[in-house]
Amino acid sequence: MLDKIKDWHQQRIIDNSPYSLESWHKVAQDIDILNRLTQSELEQLIELAILLLHEKKIQGAQGLEITQRMKQSIALQACLPILNLGLEWYKGWSSIIVYPGSYFTKTSRTDEFGIVHEGHQHRSGEAWLRGPVILSWRDVKHAGARDGNNVVIHEFVHKLDMLNGRANGFPPMQKGMNPAQWTQIMEKGFADFQHNPKAGINSYGATNPAELIAVLSEVFFERPEVLQDAYPDIYQLMVEFFKQNPL
Ligand SMILES: [Zn+2]
Repeated sequence: MLDKIKDWHQQRIIDNSPYSLESWHKVAQDIDILNRLTQSELEQLIELAILLLHEKKIQGAQGLEITQRMKQSIALQACLPILNLGLEWYKGWSSIIVYPGSYFTKTSRTDEFGIVHEGHQHRSGEAWLRGPVILSWRDVKHAGARDGNNVVIHEFVHKLDMLNGRANGFPPMQKGMNPAQWTQIMEKGFADFQHNPKAGINSYGATNPAELIAVLSEVFFERPEVLQDAYPDIYQLMVEFFKQNPL
């Protein structure tokens, strides 16, 4: 019953979307990785993207004006990982902040002696626990081109990972998945990737297990054959987790 009411409510939001279906298809056409979707998958993705834009506020930073096209491009790419999972996987937070380009951010790290190190770091995106997703538009624009880099997928996969607490490379499992198997395969992959960089996979994934699944998810959706080649068992886990098989 609750599901039925929700469906009706969501259908109303979709029917009242301010953007034409044609405009959604046009934006989708320019995102190369979406070309492998079937017609019905693409329609489902567009519906999810409409619901995402209804639920989350997208704001420009540093004077960046957010256009309709930018909103649609971000929403379509953001919803690809949850195409078969549903929007509730992005619950618990409400805003997306977009910078014109990569930006500098103050960082603070406490070392093992308790000394705090302040610094500046160049970033193209961030995802905060229960807070916003932050993206650089210049990086979003270049995402989706099947080169293995996709800042939107990267940051939104951190959000999936954060559904059960801090990002640690261990998101909530799907029904039927074995958490111990996930941990074992990911730990093995992480240990290997730290010592054996792979062509086509950003070495940033060696930072920690949370970055590894974010980086490998970019590759899974952008260049699935590269992930299948490098880590077939991780590829298989991701098929089960995302309930999609890009190959
Ligand atoms: Zn990251």
